[in-house]
Amino acid sequence: MRKRFIQVSGCLFTLALIGVLAAFMFVPPVFDYLNNAVVRPAPFTPNADAKTLHDSLFVADLHSDSLLWNRDLLIENARGHVDVPRLMKGNVALQAFTVVTKTPKNMNYENNTGDTDNITTLAIMQRWPKRTYSSLLERALYQAEKLHDMADRSKGALTLITSGPEFDTFLNRRNTDRTVVAGFLGIEGLHCAEGQLDNIDVLYSAGFRMMGITHFFDNELGGSAHGVSKGGLTPFGRDCVKRMEELHIIIDVAHASPAVIDDVLAMATRPVVMSHGGVKGTCNKTRNLSDDHVRRIAATGGVIGIGYWEEAICGTDVQAIVAAIRYAVSIAGIDHVGLGSDFDGVITAPFDTSGLAEITQELQNQGVPDVDIAKIMGGNTLRVLRECLPGS
Ligand SMILES: [Zn+2]
Repeated sequence: MRKRFIQVSGCLFTLALIGVLAAFMFVPPVFDYLNNAVVRPAPFTPNADAKTLHDSLFVADLHSDSLLWNRDLLIENARGHVDVPRLMKGNVALQAFTVVTKTPKNMNYENNTGDTDNITTLAIMQRWPKRTYSSLLERALYQAEKLHDMADRSKGALTLITSGPEFDTFLNRRNTDRTVVAGFLGIEGLHCAEGQLDNIDVLYSAGFRMMGITHFFDNELGGSAHGVSKGGLTPFGRDCVKRMEELHIIIDVAHASPAVIDDVLAMATRPVVMSHGGVKGTCNKTRNLSDDHVRRIAATGGVIGIGYWEEAICGTDVQAIVAAIRYAVSIAGIDHVGLGSDFDGVITAPFDTSGLAEITQELQNQGVPDVDIAKIMGGNTLRVLRECLPGS
């Protein structure tokens, strides 16, 4: 009897172990596949005029959460939105890689606390290093290491940009070789500084050059658009903004509460960006920018990255993206609007990054002049990066 009991429990243990291992192997990729989806799968085929123009442009995107997922971005993946081969297919020259370090359970657009966290489970299931299980700072550093490692292994195909001179060198190479792409590192919410001003410097040393104040919950720096307090910058938040400006880190007000955006704009002496989101003028949702904020971000010399997902643009097609872009241009002026896809940020987009010529085509269809299309598709972001990066 006892022997049979041991056999049965041994069997159950083995089955449970197989179940756990299967969950670790398959749940994160399946989640990635289902939640970083496209409305229409590739290939995307623009008309000849749009393709000719698109292939001549410098295309830049201010936001992608691709480093959150266990994908080798040097190979073309069957899931998600961004990797180097698809950036090349989409003629994307510059991609921001933004890191997520904590998101609340039951995340919503209106009211979240920072009491719970999804990313711990994701980190464990994706077998990230143990140091990332309990430290938000380590989660940011680990994702930065992943990008550094991919750039090192890419044989020149992917360059990680951290300074003006590096960017200029890349731009020279790109002039003669359209198959090279550049990335730069950004952060979704500075809770990963863990309340320590010195950690801004630690993150800078790891290569981060754009930092968002908050993500989906209020943190030590101030209120989130999706948080509870809707408050402004804290004294610590003000210290962080000052330190970021000293280090020539670009300040990103995406996800910030309107009060934080006001506080940042009141003290900023350098260009401020909104890396991904929409505008209330075409989509009156919680985190989207008011006309006043659009105008004042433009006045800093910054750029507004228009996103591609439903809550940002109140639509799921390229027409909704272009409507938001054109509205933002009507308020900010042609020099202050760009692309901020939020690819790989648990969104459904009309296309993956290989399909960006569709935006060029729709802008053309709506009669936007080629010179303006060039600014929107990347020229404005290029200008802000060249102006803001250290050593520029
Ligand atoms: Zn975001």
